[in-house]
Amino acid sequence: MRFDQRHLLGIEPLRPDEITTLLDLSDKYVTLNRQRDKRSTTLSGLTQINMFFENSTRTQASFELAGKRMGADVMNMSMQASSIKKGETLIDTAMTLNAMHPDLLVVRHPHSGAVDLLAQKVNCAVINAGDGRHEHPTQALLDALTIRRAKGRLHRLSIAICGDIAHSRVARSNIMLLGKMENRIRLVGPATLMPAGIADFGCEVFEDMTEGLRDVDVVMMLRLQKERMDGGFIPSEREYYHRYGLDTEKLASARPDAIVMHPGPMNRGVEIDGTLADDINRSVIQEQVEMGVAVRMAVMDLLARNLRARPKEVMA
Ligand code: ASP
Repeated sequence: MRFDQRHLLGIEPLRPDEITTLLDLSDKYVTLNRQRDKRSTTLSGLTQINMFFENSTRTQASFELAGKRMGADVMNMSMQASSIKKGETLIDTAMTLNAMHPDLLVVRHPHSGAVDLLAQKVNCAVINAGDGRHEHPTQALLDALTIRRAKGRLHRLSIAICGDIAHSRVARSNIMLLGKMENRIRLVGPATLMPAGIADFGCEVFEDMTEGLRDVDVVMMLRLQKERMDGGFIPSEREYYHRYGLDTEKLASARPDAIVMHPGPMNRGVEIDGTLADDINRSVIQEQVEMGVAVRMAVMDLLARNLRARPKEVMA
């Protein structure tokens, strides 16, 4: 079992065997989380700080629960309301943090690359909980675990990623992870919501939803990221739902055992039909949330092992 990373900044630097190591360990944490007594002492003595410069419900809760179940001292810093508003630079924030001696730092930031920058300035292990449109590695890992458990494998599957690809860090991280594990990836959505340089992604691209979903094993829906749009990407939400909203009719062109995924938060009636999202025979959206806690436990466990294996850097 090898995992050679000091931080988890994205899927890009991970090797396929590291991804498998992470998912295998996550499976063990799923079992632990289903027991009445969910405590482990893996992170005891360590301090975990969650810094969210952007809103989050499930990701922040998931990291907090993961840390607490493993015995870390967990602190949430709400950066929206805090010093960022007062003009503190990211570097100042890093210096302040260093003085508090955290061991694990979980960061979400609206700017792509901000988490990498912070990682260069602090002495602890940094986990990217989503940076701009760039990466959201724990989301891709939890999606991979959900797929592997539902389909019994994580290779040679046909997977459609649908909707607002252009603004989605979830799509980017998933494209990288599922590509590394040798799956066939289809990107489905209007041309206005496809990122520039799409040809370099090595995926098949479809503008027609029924065509794009034909015989796929997995349908991964994305939220319309309205907060990252400055107008003009779709004619109207009604029209978007008509062409790209997932409903039973469009899903009928996928394989009969295809699973439906969504990272949340969902816009019901915009990118997905609410009844389909709740249909436990097709939708694995609740499983994704469950897998999220287990994956974050595995990530912090492996990073903490690497942290403990290194001599502590003492600040001057
Ligand atoms: N929760 C995911 C993210 O932070 C997906 C989304 O917001 O649509 O990127």
